[in-house]
Amino acid sequence: MRKPVIAGNWKMHMTCAQSRDYMATFLPLLENLPEDRDVVIAPPFTAISSVADLVKNSCVELSSQNVHWEGSGAFTAEISPTMLLEHGVRYAIVGHSEPRKYFSESDEQINHRARSAQKHGLIPIVCVGESDEQRNRGEAERVIRRQVEQGLETLDPKKLVVAYEPIWAIGTGRVATPEDAQAVCLGIRQVVRDDSGNAAADSVRIQYGGSVKPVSAPDLMRQPDIDGALVGGASLDPEEFARIIAYRLVG
Ligand code: PEP
Repeated sequence: MRKPVIAGNWKMHMTCAQSRDYMATFLPLLENLPEDRDVVIAPPFTAISSVADLVKNSCVELSSQNVHWEGSGAFTAEISPTMLLEHGVRYAIVGHSEPRKYFSESDEQINHRARSAQKHGLIPIVCVGESDEQRNRGEAERVIRRQVEQGLETLDPKKLVVAYEPIWAIGTGRVATPEDAQAVCLGIRQVVRDDSGNAAADSVRIQYGGSVKPVSAPDLMRQPDIDGALVGGASLDPEEFARIIAYRLVG
């Protein structure tokens, strides 16, 4: 059984003061949450330390929004795995479509970041997904296969999360249908199976991300190859995010 992981990506939002206000509302809403799911928040780097203190005795785990492949060095504006570990961070998002687009991140760089994360004991959340143009040209499968093959090269699937995030769904309100998202996540699992075998494919957790809201979460989470969600906009509202996290599979 794969444990679903629901992660909130705060992107470039939330000061330390805003994070404190958020947690004052959010943490009490998680009190009766079933233990069958992992909850993760990825604050901006400046708020990680404050959020780490606030979530100490809760079920919330921390992610970074990126990680460099070196432990230290002359890499202005980057953050190292050891710096994150010092604050109890457990996950690291890599390959999100925004750094892919704005900073031309390549699959090779993303793979370096993810390998370094694993080497240091962090769980990479490797984002993949096609653009609207690629989808319309019928290239989605080929694009995602390339991102998975190159981005996941030599990674341990047991200590890994893949997030399928179609770019056309991110921040647009256009959520993928559960059937479409399931088909792509199954395809991603099949690529892992082809490259690394059955055990690897069965253990890798695959999230869906792209305009997930409380109303769409249960049907997405019900799909057999979707093991959680990566949530952007809706994770900025503590009540909305708590409702997504509290999805029920039946009833
Ligand atoms: C994201 O950026 O990872 C994301 C899924 O954003 P949103 O939920 O706002 O579409």
